[in-house]
Amino acid sequence: MYCPFCRNPDSRVVDSRMADDGSAIRRRRQCPECGRRFTTVETTSLSVIKRSGVGEPFSRSKVINGVRKACQGRPVSEDDLAMLAQEVEENIRASGAAEIDAHEVGLIILGPLQKLDKVAYLRFASVYQAFESLEDFESAIALLRHESDVEAKATTSKAEGKGSEGKSPEVRSPEAKNTEAKNTEAKNTAKSTL
Ligand SMILES: [Zn+2]
Repeated sequence: MYCPFCRNPDSRVVDSRMADDGSAIRRRRQCPECGRRFTTVETTSLSVIKRSGVGEPFSRSKVINGVRKACQGRPVSEDDLAMLAQEVEENIRASGAAEIDAHEVGLIILGPLQKLDKVAYLRFASVYQAFESLEDFESAIALLRHESDVEAKATTSKAEGKGSEGKSPEVRSPEAKNTEAKNTEAKNTAKSTL
């Protein structure tokens, strides 16, 4: 198992535990070369079914290669790409599926890529979802704007709510709350898998 950060071929297991549902064993490993930690998951094999109908093992490096081009010239590091691929794999495995269509893998990539870099996301989505017109870009950008507005509002109302806790819990829309909860959850996931 190569270290995903420095490619050192050796790593030390620092912790092993079974996933809550018993479907996988997670091992925390530390690279003796660069000292960074990462998680490996031992689980049943996961196949990606290509458009031709042929299945092949899921590969994080294919996910990374798929998004790398969209990230050209953007402030996205190799570590970011490694984390994105890990998140994609975990999302798929969390669904419990043993097989997944290649097309669906692309859909799952869109989520973490949007969080990582909006421009890379638009590039990837435009190719992946075959944007054909300016309108396709406009509606994708409008959606991004809407989502960042909702995020900003959630942050603002959180800041405003500091001195007046319990006063007006209905100020925040359920939508904003959900977005915020999701963001927190996503951040926690990213942290706990490193
Ligand atoms: Zn390393």
